[in-house]
Amino acid sequence: MMNFDDLNISDEIKKAIVEMGFEKATPIQKKAIPIGLKGMDITAQAQTGSGKTLAFSIPILQKIFVPDRSPQAIILCPTRELCIQVAGEIEKLAKHIKKLKVLAVYGGQSIGKQTRVLKKGVHIVVGTPGRVIDHIQRKNLDLIGVESVVLDEADEMLDMGFREDIETILKNTPHQRQTLLFSATIPRQIRRIAENYQKNPKFIKIGSNKKTIPKITQYSFKTNPKYKFDDLCNLFEAYDVKSALIFCNTKKGVDFVFKNLKKNDYSSDALHGDMTQKIRDKVMNKFRNGNVRFLVATDVAARGLDISNLDVVVNYDVPQNFDDYTHRIGRTARAGNAGFAFTLVTSRDSNLFDNIKKQSKVRIIEKDIPSDDEIDMLKSKVILERVKNSIKNDDLDKYKKLIKNSSSKTFSSDDIASALLKMMREN
Ligand code: AMP
Repeated sequence: MMNFDDLNISDEIKKAIVEMGFEKATPIQKKAIPIGLKGMDITAQAQTGSGKTLAFSIPILQKIFVPDRSPQAIILCPTRELCIQVAGEIEKLAKHIKKLKVLAVYGGQSIGKQTRVLKKGVHIVVGTPGRVIDHIQRKNLDLIGVESVVLDEADEMLDMGFREDIETILKNTPHQRQTLLFSATIPRQIRRIAENYQKNPKFIKIGSNKKTIPKITQYSFKTNPKYKFDDLCNLFEAYDVKSALIFCNTKKGVDFVFKNLKKNDYSSDALHGDMTQKIRDKVMNKFRNGNVRFLVATDVAARGLDISNLDVVVNYDVPQNFDDYTHRIGRTARAGNAGFAFTLVTSRDSNLFDNIKKQSKVRIIEKDIPSDDEIDMLKSKVILERVKNSIKNDDLDKYKKLIKNSSSKTFSSDDIASALLKMMREN
């Protein structure tokens, strides 16, 4: 991957990128940033987790003329969560651009508060299409100075019925604007939007196909409805799962799993669609900050969420179709990290799951729920894997000396390593 230094990015933004801890541009960033910086339109096929937010944010940020405090870029996202996340990412990128203002606008939050901020002047508006239209109609948002429009997760927005709103917004922005369209899939309707509202867009595709999800190890486990929850706990034990997003198909399922996790002392919380926005935000923050390790959710509740450092996504229930499966498991292995996806399959779901397997280009490996003995073995293996990583990556000189001193007479290094493994296992 390319270093950000080679991409013609302004010094202020480059400094922020370094502070965000990113060293190498991801493939979508490498391809999209230079084209975006030239002011050209882009239609990009890229998944959540590919680093697409930076890919469109950097070119639009670099174009903002700060002394003019009117909206110069509009970013449309399908969900409130994604709006908050994108606005947050832009704020971080713009940390060294003085006085640059970004605002997220979405339903569920008082329109008055958003109006006040808009009236004071913002440069970039990140919003759900419905709320953006609302602000336009109330004359809170003037599109005359808009130079860039981004459609983020465009396929999701269309799925959610925002097509008309999106087209209205596009029609009301200046014709000479730059339009950046990002979507995990490019179905016909998306191509139509590109044809009607973009000017000679450059087409960028990351990964060979939406059906290929790299670096996610996908396992399925046959289970029985009676033991499903116990099996879930066994998997957590066996694979030493530190945190996971667990999907259920229904709100009732979410409540059941959440309650039982709590009962078994797993630090957990639940998220479903009919919770108030305020509670959803609170839950999300706790999970993001690591105060809660296991989050149980329905598909609707988890749409557009960005959660990093996720070890595992669990399909407690088999999703209804392949697209839902892809969306769910795409929550792990963000930005090139490895991740696991576990799917629990009862005999009742086997047809549904066979269909998903058929459509997946990556093999979903069938495994047995580990027995107690196997859990023991697997746990040791996980620890040894970590030890190997530490040998590769850490500076161990100080510890080597200690071991050398104490192993010389009475114990061998083997003895010490075995005792340490036992201690770690029992902790
Ligand atoms: P996105 O696809 O924009 O949702 O980004 C996925 C995640 O990757 C976010 O948590 C970003 O903060 C992170 N990310 C973005 N760019 C990079 C990069 N160049 N290197 C490492 N992580 C990144």
